Amino acid sequence: MIKLIIFDLDNTLFDTYNQLGVEVLDKMIARMRKVGLTKEQERLLRKKYIITGFRIIAKELGLSEKVKKIGMGTYTNMDLSHITPYKDVKLISKLKQKKALVTSGSGEVQLKKVRILKIGGLFGDIVVDKSSSPDNKQRIFARLMKKYRLKPKEIMVVGDNPDSELAAGKALGMVAVQILRRPGMLKGKADYYVKGLDEVKKIVESMVD
Ligand SMILES: [Mg+2]
Repeated sequence: MIKLIIFDLDNTLFDTYNQLGVEVLDKMIARMRKVGLTKEQERLLRKKYIITGFRIIAKELGLSEKVKKIGMGTYTNMDLSHITPYKDVKLISKLKQKKALVTSGSGEVQLKKVRILKIGGLFGDIVVDKSSSPDNKQRIFARLMKKYRLKPKEIMVVGDNPDSELAAGKALGMVAVQILRRPGMLKGKADYYVKGLDEVKKIVESMVD
């Protein structure tokens, strides 16, 4: 039986890609070009930005401090006022399990998103992973498991990123559910693949023993 569900935020509970991604990325790139972003870095940034946060990519691409600072500054100051949650987010309140939100990025931006989306009240725990290492999610998940004295099999992780929350959940032996909100998304390693939270609810309810 699942007793705790850990949710990712970006591209899981709201459409970061369409509501923020492309528009903000274009602005970031335009400004970063002026301080030395190369064509190759731009190409990789555009490719990876769809699922990975800027800080993680910046580290992977070895962006200079100056480029990183300009990019992060543009990102931190982006207009978030128009973002809205996916319609099925309302189903989360119907789940009887404990719920946690674990999201990567800058604390300021991620918590602002939660406020504007008005979803904070759905979760017993909200944790922002400010590190630029995807491995850190494993430590956060392990801490939640200890806090609630649960076994890995009693915890479900719902997210879109195979290299971050899904890898962390799998490594700890939790039930990993990849949410594929857009057609053509790459499937990673997970126990279940779903298109929306209605399917998550069904899976949770079917896992009775
Ligand atoms: Mg995500």
